[in-house]
Amino acid sequence: MSSDKKSVLILGGGLAGLTAAKRLTDRGLQVRVVEKRDIYGGKVSSWKDAEGDWIESGTHCFFGAYGVLYDLMKEIGTYHSVRWKEHQLAYTLSGGERFTFSTWDMPSPLHLIPAIIRNGYFTFGEMAAFSKSLIPLALQKNLYPPTQDHLTFAEWAEEKKFGKRLMDKMFRPMALALKFIPPEEISAKIILDVTETFYRIPDSSCMGFLKGAPDEYLHQPLIRASASRGAQFRNVTAVDELLFDGREIKGVQLRNGEILTADYYLSALPIHNLVNALPVSLKTKDLFFAGLDNLEGVPVISVQIWYDREIASDDNVLFSPDGVIPVYANLARTTPEYRTLRGEPFEGKTRFEFCVAPARDLMGLTKEEIVRQVDLSVRNCYPVSSQGASILKSSVVKIPRSVYAPLPNMERFRPTQATPVRNLFLAGGFTQQLYYDSMGGAVMSANLASEGILRAEGLLEG
Ligand SMILES: Cc1cc2nc3c(=O)[nH]c(=O)nc-3n(C[C@H](O)[C@H](O)[C@H](O)COP(=O)(O)OP(=O)(O)OC[C@H]3O[C@@H](n4cnc5c(N)ncnc54)[C@H](O)[C@@H]3O)c2cc1C
Repeated sequence: MSSDKKSVLILGGGLAGLTAAKRLTDRGLQVRVVEKRDIYGGKVSSWKDAEGDWIESGTHCFFGAYGVLYDLMKEIGTYHSVRWKEHQLAYTLSGGERFTFSTWDMPSPLHLIPAIIRNGYFTFGEMAAFSKSLIPLALQKNLYPPTQDHLTFAEWAEEKKFGKRLMDKMFRPMALALKFIPPEEISAKIILDVTETFYRIPDSSCMGFLKGAPDEYLHQPLIRASASRGAQFRNVTAVDELLFDGREIKGVQLRNGEILTADYYLSALPIHNLVNALPVSLKTKDLFFAGLDNLEGVPVISVQIWYDREIASDDNVLFSPDGVIPVYANLARTTPEYRTLRGEPFEGKTRFEFCVAPARDLMGLTKEEIVRQVDLSVRNCYPVSSQGASILKSSVVKIPRSVYAPLPNMERFRPTQATPVRNLFLAGGFTQQLYYDSMGGAVMSANLASEGILRAEGLLEG
């Protein structure tokens, strides 16, 4: 890279890498992004299949809490593409039963009153026992969850003695939807953090969906915004190793043998790819890097099924404790531009997208078997409306290592964006920030990593 501007090489073109590219080009730095795949967006990527239908890495819900993501979308002119849904969480159960946590448009905690007294499933006694277990959360607020990181959520619930039905029917799908691992594995801190946020900030649990593909409303607009200021993007370009001279990063070796150099290096790789790219000399230099080995990606499967009739009319995210579909949505309702099949209008029917978890035991199954199990879960939850329904098309996307697994005691291994190496910064959902591994987390991590570089350059005070 030749010019007086300081140069930054960004590794990985997911949401974190693309956000960092925008933040740094906006401040006049010379940016280059290298991405392994032919498409950008990483875990929130989307692409068209051979029949012209959008396929996604997974259903992506936009939580009200992700302020930094909406600031970014306003900057690139795409915030209008978020369709906010009714503020409620609906659960579908086998046998066609269902319950809904609704909210009132009132200040916290009054907004939760209908969820507690009018959910139509849990008894007042069950909700009272649950509310009692949350007293430490209400008193200590966000200071409480970090003190519970040594426990799984199931262990925490056992200590607090809140009911098994609440755990099985409400929190199991919630844990699986959030991080694709069950309450017996997920750190109590995660569920308590989310519960505390939902409790404290009324709009935080409101969900939105994009009106169409993330590629069209997130990634391409981000790339265009940065490219217009000179950023360069190279896809199908895999990083092999960071070159470390004992003091700082001297370059990045690509898988094709090429070496790229810059003044700063910003890794926005997933955790397992970062660990693979770190040289042994760096891992042994500092516990900061050695600790990264403890963070692991969780397997998850995304399935889309087009049915020939409308099975669920909900225009919102749905949860299910029964079967293999903890979280899903009828995209033909939630996502106007996805009301298509093979390029033709697809009105009044069902285009479900499911997050299938836990996926560990399902990863080795064939596409047909996975679709069969998902279809069975659907027919259990909708015994009447699914009668006679036929599958017109299906797709399966397996992600062997997706978001990092927030198991107990993992929090201390999440790295900050600044590292002990002067010219190396990290971004990505697994790095330390408010929102865990999520779209909000990816954007916040990129903001923090970019600020670190700008600060190092004297372009930002503090
Ligand atoms: C099924 C599913 C559902 C989800 N649902 C939600 C949701 O509803 N709401 C929400 O907020 N979040 C959700 N998430 C999480 C969200 O997608 C991620 O937290 C976020 O996209 C992470 O972005 P990132 O940029 O940190 O990482 P990534 O998206 O993983 O980006 C990393 C990039 O690095 C690239 N890369 C990897 N190795 C190399 C290499 N060697 N060289 C060059 N490039 C490389 C990858 O191809 C990728 O593009 C979901 C995730 C999944 C998998």
